Amino acid sequence: MKNETKSTVLVKHHLKQLKLPTMHSECEKVAARSAKENLDHLAYLLALCELELVDRERRAAERRLKAARFPSSKTLDEFDFDARPSLNKPLVLELAKGDWIDKRENLLLVGPSGTGKTHLAIALAMAACLSGRKVRCFRVTELITTMLEARDEKSLLRLRSQLAKQDVVVLDELGYVPASKAGAELLFDLIGQAYERQSLVVTTNLPFEHWTEVLGSERLTGAALDRLTHRCHILEFTGQSYRLQDAQRRSRSKKQE
Ligand code: ADP
Ligand code: MG
Repeated sequence: MKNETKSTVLVKHHLKQLKLPTMHSECEKVAARSAKENLDHLAYLLALCELELVDRERRAAERRLKAARFPSSKTLDEFDFDARPSLNKPLVLELAKGDWIDKRENLLLVGPSGTGKTHLAIALAMAACLSGRKVRCFRVTELITTMLEARDEKSLLRLRSQLAKQDVVVLDELGYVPASKAGAELLFDLIGQAYERQSLVVTTNLPFEHWTEVLGSERLTGAALDRLTHRCHILEFTGQSYRLQDAQRRSRSKKQE
């Protein structure tokens, strides 16, 4: 075996052992390019390290996105602010930077069905994910079922500690279906646990004065609302459903044809 080939094989073996997959796959190509450009050894190593770091961050972001379990991918770019003039656009763009997460503040997105609450909640949580935050997204009914099952299987502590590790927990569609007493208590518990430790993003079609009807216990609902809204940004969605607006726009433009 020629010396050069032998060192290539060994380097690649060691890079694999060291879990540096990008350096492993790129080292020969970058070596050839560096030789052509007369780069010295350290410049070569630097180029290779940079490739590994960029790739590592990309892989980590992909992992975080997958772990967040978003129901679909929604971005701020796809959000039509002109269709929702009630919304404070500068505030939304500021929130996309994520400072509220470092301050453990919550987001509350309130308004009727179809007005884009879930879209914006996902878009802001995805932005958080891409900038390095750990996020987990649930529909409230799904989370309550998961917590009730975990309680029956005596794995509630494990689920709670998994949730406590997140920087942001999205609770989508609070109040669409009335919660059972046990379910509501678990939800109140989660809101209490998250208070000042992590950020919650809640979407709801329920005006605050109706929360007790859906969640029961005036005292517990009051305490949960108090914690949720203590340090929080409220985004109000008013107007017609986006789908309805969209359908009307399309049928108008058809008539004009
Ligand atoms: P909500 O959660 O308030 O019921 P959604 O976020 O699910 O509403 O919105 C319903 C559909 O309309 C989704 O497909 C969403 O992407 C789209 N949509 C809503 N508002 C907008 C908007 N302002 N710009 C672009 N798409 C929107
Ligand atoms: Mg929704």
